[in-house]
Amino acid sequence: MRIGVLALQGDFDAHRRRLEELGAEVALVKKSEQLDEIDGLVIPGGESSTFLKLLGDQGFEKLKEFVRLKPTLGTCAGAILLAAEVENPKQVGLGAIDIDIRRNAYGRQIDSSIREGKLRSAGRGDSPLEMVFIRAPKIERVGPGVEVIATEGKDPVAVRQGKAMAATFHPELSEDTRVHRAFLEMVRVGDGK
Ligand code: GLN
Repeated sequence: MRIGVLALQGDFDAHRRRLEELGAEVALVKKSEQLDEIDGLVIPGGESSTFLKLLGDQGFEKLKEFVRLKPTLGTCAGAILLAAEVENPKQVGLGAIDIDIRRNAYGRQIDSSIREGKLRSAGRGDSPLEMVFIRAPKIERVGPGVEVIATEGKDPVAVRQGKAMAATFHPELSEDTRVHRAFLEMVRVGDGK
């Protein structure tokens, strides 16, 4: 099982370390051809508009194909890339998860914060989860096929649809490994429910 971390820009190295700690073999993906060699992908935080520029049209199309076929976890800017609709300003999304998302939705004063939210686990109810938000986006619409897997206050902050999972916070910056473990489990079972 080989996990790629998109390494064009942003905090890809924290994801690499976390995945390696959990026993995964990790490849830093800098060229779109490398997508052919991995079983799952993490799209890290960073600047989603910069990712789009660096990917270019071809890279974007290749990534779009990948996220339809293989498990992908997007955090923060990565969640923005996976969305169907992106606002503030408008930009294209990969459409892997049927959500509308608003960039930089918390305003300047609360650029970054650490808050306690809730993680839902099947059959075990909700449990507290530390969430690091950095210039975070907000999920403003959740489509009917999308499962909300974490909330903060009233807001959905982690969602899943089929093989794609997105979090508006940065699980790679907290000690808690549950989000990455859930993603690795999805890769392991090759799940696309
Ligand atoms: N504000 C960034 C964006 O709009 C996301 C921030 C992050 O990934 N920490 O793309």
